[in-house]
Amino acid sequence: MEHRHILIVEDEQKIAALLKEYLEREGFRVIISRRGDQAVAQVHKVAPDLMLLDLMLPGMDGVSVCREVRKFSNVPIVMVTAKVEEIDRLIGLEVGADDYICKPFSPREVVARVKAVLRRMMPETAEKNVVCGPIAVDATAHQAKVGDRELDLTPSEFRLLQVLISQPGRVFSREELLARVQGYDCEGYDRTIDSHIKNLRKKIAEHLAGKEVISTVYGIGYRLNLDPL
Ligand code: CA
Repeated sequence: MEHRHILIVEDEQKIAALLKEYLEREGFRVIISRRGDQAVAQVHKVAPDLMLLDLMLPGMDGVSVCREVRKFSNVPIVMVTAKVEEIDRLIGLEVGADDYICKPFSPREVVARVKAVLRRMMPETAEKNVVCGPIAVDATAHQAKVGDRELDLTPSEFRLLQVLISQPGRVFSREELLARVQGYDCEGYDRTIDSHIKNLRKKIAEHLAGKEVISTVYGIGYRLNLDPL
């Protein structure tokens, strides 16, 4: 975890300084951007390992920043928001964030979440290349394909697919998926997994219409519904 670069996009100086202090204590290098319209350029310039992105910002709001960044970067983005009802929209398909932190938060909580997100982005050594039916997941290249067409997945969606495909047919509970994909909890966590699954299904369905690849197991969780090759 040492010397990972975190870009904090936050216009409230006190909050930004506090987060910087806590993150630096853990060995992270921290860059602060106070305006949304400057944040996109900063991502280009410093290529951070993770971005903490406030929703309400001068210049350009967090949602627009996230969309702009997603056009050229897969950097993990953690949205900071007081609007719990916005979470479904923020995560994944529509906006492209990987995770969220609810305001008000404690700096410790933020550090734990940053570590958890970075941890889940690290490729698993055991499952480098998995093929199941028409779906192939290559951990080294961070690439998932349906047939020969590449899926455009966010880091969280990729991680989720990687977990599901590691044991096709096995039911994973939401809690388990959350632990493997997210590692940390905040209010409404079930919705995070459900949102990621919903987006993943949509993206797979673009190439595999009419086939239910990820099944919902009522009251428990999800499983990948394909026969291994
Ligand atoms: Ca703000």
